[in-house]
Amino acid sequence: MTVRTRFAPSPTGMLHIGGVRTALFSWLYARRHGGEFILRVEDTDRERSTDEAVQVILDGMEWLGLTPDEGPFYQTKRYDRYHEVIGHFLAAGHAYHCYCSKAELDDMRAQQMARKEKPRYDGRCRHRPAPLEGVTPVVRFRNPDEGQVVVNDVVHGPIVFDSQELDDLIILRSDGNPTYNFCVAVDDWDMGITHVIRGDDHINNTPRQINMLRAMGATPPVYAHLPMILGPDGTKLSKRHGAVSVLEYKNAGFLPEALLNYLGRLGWSHGDQELFSIDELIQFFDLDAVNKSASALNPDKLAWTNQQHMMRRSGSELAPRLATVLAERGVSVGAMDLAAIADCLKERAKTLVEMADGAAFFFADPTTYDAKAAAKNLNAETAPVLVEARSALAALEEPWTAASVHGVLDALVAKLGVGLGKVAQPLRVSVAGSGVSPPIDATLAILGAEATLRRIDRAIGFAVTN
Ligand code: GLU
Repeated sequence: MTVRTRFAPSPTGMLHIGGVRTALFSWLYARRHGGEFILRVEDTDRERSTDEAVQVILDGMEWLGLTPDEGPFYQTKRYDRYHEVIGHFLAAGHAYHCYCSKAELDDMRAQQMARKEKPRYDGRCRHRPAPLEGVTPVVRFRNPDEGQVVVNDVVHGPIVFDSQELDDLIILRSDGNPTYNFCVAVDDWDMGITHVIRGDDHINNTPRQINMLRAMGATPPVYAHLPMILGPDGTKLSKRHGAVSVLEYKNAGFLPEALLNYLGRLGWSHGDQELFSIDELIQFFDLDAVNKSASALNPDKLAWTNQQHMMRRSGSELAPRLATVLAERGVSVGAMDLAAIADCLKERAKTLVEMADGAAFFFADPTTYDAKAAAKNLNAETAPVLVEARSALAALEEPWTAASVHGVLDALVAKLGVGLGKVAQPLRVSVAGSGVSPPIDATLAILGAEATLRRIDRAIGFAVTN
């Protein structure tokens, strides 16, 4: 049997990392078992669903590489099918029309509360002999009266529900809109879903969905309910915690594979391993190692994971991603070697955004100098050192390499009888405008002769007048 999983987000809020973790586990499970992964947009709540939220789902999944094998399917495009199943249910006695008015339902509820009973629809329209004139009915599912529904949840173990606790839920509103649990059941059946992997906020929906699946003659899928992701303070994940659109992580310069690695580890483990490539996640992932308890988001660990992934990438792998961030900033890269830039910055940047910040000086000559760094490094005392360095570098054959620049600086340091810092730091402030840059030899080699000498000239001018 081919494993078929699905991710079924409702576009009522922006896809955030809690949703992404659900998508990831469904996707991984399908990939791990050579199965198929389906994307289904549950947009029947027309008032709260937005096109923007749908777009974030599509763009987010694409950015993350969680490509579906089928879909996206949209529930709002499947109304004919839902009405068809409701027709079958009515004909087979699995559903009935309910004409109860709001006042009647309120009254029923009040009486049950007065008797200290759990409020539930008492099924009175099951036996109503004739339609009520002038009332457009809803359709209710006729839930079994007796027995138990056992959800054999892969993560939580068996969860038993008494059928009696589940009342006859509305599956079609009087305005013709089918309702949520019903659509999920029809879709899971029609789409041949074998494993439903979703957040454990859906556990209470599961027995209802199982009963409807059985009424359709379907074998219910396997269920795996994932524990929630909490905010760093242990409370429900909210906007305040970064439960923002997943695309904000893209904009903040995270690598998709690092975000997936981090989310994979949030609620699942494989020995002590923290860092996984996507292929390793696919190879090792299984539902039996999913935690039962909720896990809290840890932004520091996410940043660490991202940095580790950056460090493991080559400069040429990072270059196109850095180029995208720079292009968004309107930076003109010119002839600069982005792979070399990424290579020398990847050890110190936690995100692509930090990398782009650190790279900025490569693309534009400094017009001002960091005051403190300049006071220390661009002054009357260092000006002669810069003059010496300039002439030594000017004599260096092009194209420069980190090694050839290194050779020149070594010779200069020996000649002047000073430590490397006495030469490197004034040069660094000259070319970068501040006391921070990647190693000076690599930095100058990337800048090349023309830009380096031009910047040193300007810095000498500054040094002698300050
Ligand atoms: N549409 C539901 C949600 O976004 C998920 C339903 C399901 O996975 O069964 O929470």
